Amino acid sequence: MTTSETTINGIQYETHEHDVLVIGAGGAGLRAAIEASAQGLSVALVCKSLLGKAHTVMAEGGCAASMGYVDSADGWETHFKDTMHGGKFLNNWRMAQIHAQEAPERVRELERWGAVFDRTPDGKIQQRPFGGHTYRRLCHVGDHTGLEMIRTLQDKGVHSGMDIFMEATITDLIKDGDRISGAFGYWRESGRFVVFKAKAVILATGGLGKTFKITSGSWEYTGDGFAMGYRAGAELIDMEFVQFHPTGMVWPNGVRGILVTEAVRGEGGRLFNSLGERFMEKVDPARMELSTRDIVAKGIYKEVTEGRGSPHGGVFLDISHRGADYIRKKLPGMYRQLLEFADVDITKGPMEVGPTTHYTMGGLKVDPETAMTTVPGLFAAGEVAAGLHGANRLGGNSLSDLIVFGRRAGLGAKQFIDANPTAPVVSDERIAVAARRASSFFDRDQGENPYTIHGELQEMMQDKVGIVRTDESLGDALSRIEDFRKRAANVAITGTRTFNPGWHLAIDLENMLTCAEALALCARQRTESRGGHTRLDHEGYDDHWSKTTSTIKRGDNGEMVLGQQPLDPLPADLKPLFEGDVGVPGAIKANNKL
Ligand SMILES: Cc1cc2nc3c(=O)[nH]c(=O)nc-3n(C[C@H](O)[C@H](O)[C@H](O)COP(=O)(O)OP(=O)(O)OC[C@H]3O[C@@H](n4cnc5c(N)ncnc54)[C@H](O)[C@@H]3O)c2cc1C
Repeated sequence: MTTSETTINGIQYETHEHDVLVIGAGGAGLRAAIEASAQGLSVALVCKSLLGKAHTVMAEGGCAASMGYVDSADGWETHFKDTMHGGKFLNNWRMAQIHAQEAPERVRELERWGAVFDRTPDGKIQQRPFGGHTYRRLCHVGDHTGLEMIRTLQDKGVHSGMDIFMEATITDLIKDGDRISGAFGYWRESGRFVVFKAKAVILATGGLGKTFKITSGSWEYTGDGFAMGYRAGAELIDMEFVQFHPTGMVWPNGVRGILVTEAVRGEGGRLFNSLGERFMEKVDPARMELSTRDIVAKGIYKEVTEGRGSPHGGVFLDISHRGADYIRKKLPGMYRQLLEFADVDITKGPMEVGPTTHYTMGGLKVDPETAMTTVPGLFAAGEVAAGLHGANRLGGNSLSDLIVFGRRAGLGAKQFIDANPTAPVVSDERIAVAARRASSFFDRDQGENPYTIHGELQEMMQDKVGIVRTDESLGDALSRIEDFRKRAANVAITGTRTFNPGWHLAIDLENMLTCAEALALCARQRTESRGGHTRLDHEGYDDHWSKTTSTIKRGDNGEMVLGQQPLDPLPADLKPLFEGDVGVPGAIKANNKL
């Protein structure tokens, strides 16, 4: 690694040079950085907040892997099938296959690195049931699995010799010709600029929840990776598929949106409407509350819109029948969090819950084997990458995704660097363009306030591009986004670059607008309902769309270009796995209607 301090055309910045730059220090970024280090590469790992504060740390329910410790009949084939059924067959089959095959070894590896999972009485990793998983499959640590995963990966990572840059935001990727060559960003505290030169860059920046009003995600969830990748020429796919987790708190207001883990339903929690009916009996009598998230979310939506909701626009989730001791043992975080922050005692009565924006199935298109995007040298792993989950992610399949494809991205970077050993150039001109873009908000004394635009964008997305959509709502959304864009170009930030949250938001806002546009365009194009995407004007599946992926590319003049691509068909050797399945796709078709 080398470091230097430079000034060009009055722009002062520091430079760090490594073989690999990993942007994002959640599970995917950490696992990628560990692998790249293990391959003998010098690695820089950058994150917006402190190490250990990514979304991964918030994961509660568990990590899906067919260890077969609790249900010995489980195996990769069943996990693969469940993932494809859950994704409504829009998944990239090869990613789903790799994920199911490699997840168990990645979990055992975490254990070797020091992760302490809950145990079965005979000392094996404990596994719990979750929506859409045929067997008890989620390896967990109470309801704080993500914390244990991040702790383990962090410990392993900091001892791997990588350089860690915390509280730094990357604003733009930099290319040398077609190939990636580094990235530009700023230190959040001082506002000083920083340039990273690298032979390969791995994006692991997570999702885009903050584009919506109600979300289980934190301030870091602003879709930076999707937008930066897109601006650098990488292709996005499946952007219409956003997961609205069925059980976010709707009341009290202070905890609105925060997640009530699916583990509550996994441990026996029941959903009721205001008439005291277990309405999942009508929606999916076989799986009830452990149906897939898209189906449960739509079930709740129907109860609320038909007037059988709870007083604050949700439904009731009750686990109190399991008894206080059991709940405190199995769901300690949930119990404490809701008692302390919301004064809701889940051992005594129900919670009021409703759908909350939770996960992005769409994202950067990657090669299943190497995790490389369509830009040479640029890789993506974790939530920012698309393909594995298709139209709907099964709970627990994200944590396993991070460790499977994080590792593959690290290996992919090594392969790429071996084949392209010459260090690419980060030109002064590219740095100047990135610096200009980041500082332009200070040019005006007066103009728009980024907080106002962001608030309006979130309201609009929730309302028009949320859990249900129509051609009209999406058309409105696109014209509102165009208007927001014009206003965003006129944002004025006062003060200096030294810790200036308004400036940070102004930069993030551009990324969220890019995500919002991609999402609305893809959602308008897909004239059917599938998984996380529900069109009131196009109920049920459509044959064309069952074989087609939506694509977004940047056009030559900087315009967003919407397209379609045929899905890779399932190969002959995997087809027999689905023989006789009523769910291909007939069984789920009925359930997909509102
Ligand atoms: C409350 C909650 C509970 C969940 N429970 C589960 C569960 O039980 N099981 C499961 O499988 N999944 C669960 N999920 C989903 C899962 O946690 C996430 O999908 C996953 O952790 C995402 O990991 P990631 O590594 O892709 O990104 P993240 O963990 O979100 O990390 C993103 C990283 O990128 C950095 N970053 C972003 N933008 C920039 C930038 N511009 N410059 C520099 N750094 C940047 C951030 O600082 C952060 O370090 C849950 C999610 C939430 C919110």
